[in-house]
Amino acid sequence: MSAGRERHKCVVCGRVFPRGHGVVIGIEDLVLEFHSNRCFAKFARELLKRMPQGDVKGYARRLLEEYEEILSQKAKLKSKRI
Ligand SMILES: [Zn+2]
Repeated sequence: MSAGRERHKCVVCGRVFPRGHGVVIGIEDLVLEFHSNRCFAKFARELLKRMPQGDVKGYARRLLEEYEEILSQKAKLKSKRI
């Protein structure tokens, strides 16, 4: 196998794309490759639907809180500058 010119194949639409483009996600030994954000979103939406909703809700809530914290910190920084 030759190293360097590594190419990925989108798992959703089958399009081949060069390294450094698209979205590549590793889950332990499973590698998921998407040529665009749109294909990634399609896959992610389907994945979310199939995961236990109770678990997803817990993770989503925590992530939501993290983003809310980031947003409120940004808002504070902005108000300091004025
Ligand atoms: Zn694709």
